[in-house]
Amino acid sequence: MHQPHAEPRRSIYYRYQVFDAWLPSMHPGPQRHAVVIAGAGPIGLVAALELARHGVKCVLLESERQVSEGSRAIVFTRRSMEILQQVGVAHRVTQNGLPWRFGNSVYRGQRVFRMEAPHDPDDRFFPMINLQQQYLEEYLVDAVRANPLIELRWGNRVNAVTQDGQGATLDVDTPEGPYTLQTNWLVAADGARSGIRSMLDLKLEGASYEGRFIIADIRIDLPLPTERLAFFDPDWNPGNTILMHREPHGIWRVDYQLPPGEDAEAALKPESLKARIDAQLAMIGHAGVPWAMDWCSVYSARALTLPDYVHGRVLFTGDAAHLLPIFGVRGANTGFQDAQALAWRLAFVVKGLAAAPLLAGYSSERVGAAREIIDEAGKSTRFMTPPTRGFRLLRDAVLSLSLSEPFVGPLYHWRTSRPHEYRDSPANSAGDDNALFQAGPGHGAPPQNVRLGADDHLLDHLDHCFALLYFTEDAAVPDALTEVVNELRAKGLPLRVIAVGSAQPVAGADDTLADADGHLRVRYGVLASGAAYLLRPDQHVCARWMGLDATRLRAALVNAAGLNKEV
Ligand SMILES: Cc1cc2nc3c(=O)[nH]c(=O)nc-3n(C[C@H](O)[C@H](O)[C@H](O)COP(=O)(O)OP(=O)(O)OC[C@H]3O[C@@H](n4cnc5c(N)ncnc54)[C@H](O)[C@@H]3O)c2cc1C
Repeated sequence: MHQPHAEPRRSIYYRYQVFDAWLPSMHPGPQRHAVVIAGAGPIGLVAALELARHGVKCVLLESERQVSEGSRAIVFTRRSMEILQQVGVAHRVTQNGLPWRFGNSVYRGQRVFRMEAPHDPDDRFFPMINLQQQYLEEYLVDAVRANPLIELRWGNRVNAVTQDGQGATLDVDTPEGPYTLQTNWLVAADGARSGIRSMLDLKLEGASYEGRFIIADIRIDLPLPTERLAFFDPDWNPGNTILMHREPHGIWRVDYQLPPGEDAEAALKPESLKARIDAQLAMIGHAGVPWAMDWCSVYSARALTLPDYVHGRVLFTGDAAHLLPIFGVRGANTGFQDAQALAWRLAFVVKGLAAAPLLAGYSSERVGAAREIIDEAGKSTRFMTPPTRGFRLLRDAVLSLSLSEPFVGPLYHWRTSRPHEYRDSPANSAGDDNALFQAGPGHGAPPQNVRLGADDHLLDHLDHCFALLYFTEDAAVPDALTEVVNELRAKGLPLRVIAVGSAQPVAGADDTLADADGHLRVRYGVLASGAAYLLRPDQHVCARWMGLDATRLRAALVNAAGLNKEV
């Protein structure tokens, strides 16, 4: 019988809430659902909220009865915030998180590189915001609990999965014993050690790195700004790397690499942790400042992905689909993009709007993203933890040179998480004018946000629908376009028309953005009225035209949405 922890986890700054377990005896009746999500980590929660935006119900099974232990992911990117805005929790993250945009690399006591993440006046969110993962999960859980389309079952652990062409059958264990549940689609969001991955006998591809890090969260009052600090080859930990991040609630994250061969258990002993954290504090000029340990863990970098995220009726997402090194803040940030890319397609399939092959596009886009990240992450991980003598020599040469040559510094700034551009996605329109544009987001790119006024941005106007941004100064959208829009809407396609460029509401549009100074048009490379962008429900661009006509609009929508042939 599954007995999840009933005691709240311990923390010196976060109060864990233990939720009642969902018990089968209290809910008699057949258990068949359209979608079940296994795992209510950040990615399962976002996937559930995204599905609900499309009107699709789901059951969310969570083995534990409280949110996850320790701070874990602490840096969320601008793109994550844009996704979290869609599911309704971005404002709570902004209220409680610490925004930042600078990173400092220090070698032999000297700052050798200062990274500045671009921050455009058009952006609503900072490039990065620090917040402990428990808080984010709490906000998402609150949103899920307020949503009548999502049933969150705490204390329900998936123990076995079998599937056939119609769906999957799950054996679920609870604190009062097991029950069986059937679903047409199972989303596996059960994290890095995904039991569902093992049950299906699936293997991850990629590399595991030898360097191990201690991750420690301490409460301490340090008079330092919220900026990332990276220390290379410090005296107290020769040859290794230390990272420091400020977190909300007076907490600092200290990550330090362990010398090769050191036993992880010994390294987690209080005396070892104390000596090293004291040494780090002394090195940055804050020796003797009192601190208290909240949470610590040992971590080693892995860069692995499943080669396919769709296995019959089981769809993998988040850490269950891939394991990415934390340097470059990729774990959760990548997973949010998975959840978003999956949910709209799954919703279309569940609603019968599109056939199952639409899901292959999810897999190809997100496996491509994971592989690109793994490639980049390999470089940063090799720099942080050189795997061979040769890599170490090269790394040390770069570090030494950086003391006198400023041009070297950027060589060891690793690329942080960024949204993938699905340039080769089958969802992109073959017959559009993508190649003719000189500016604006291209095929497969996420949209550029644009400030329209005080507390008003372009992305605030997008929702769960396909969005046609139609640039016009006329009083109405042309009839031929409106006919296509109405025809496809009548078939169930969620589609929103946003007219850009007119001071008055445009007939046939759901929303009109005046764009009085033409700024949006310039950013999107639009030269004349009649141009248009088509954004998918996950906001990525799938078509753009210098001059739109009804035939090309229809073809682009049918292709991107994978609409069933009879449409
Ligand atoms: C020690 C540590 C430190 C980290 N630090 C960082 C960091 O600094 N930055 C960063 O970006 N990322 C970090 N990560 C990674 C980040 O936490 C993950 O990328 C992120 O949590 C992935 O979310 P997920 O929802 O896919 O998986 P998870 O958050 O792991 O959630 C999976 C959920 O599934 C549940 N579950 C598991 N099995 C079952 C089952 N059989 N049935 C039902 N439910 C099940 C689990 O209880 C859990 O709630 C860290 C991870 C760890 C472990």
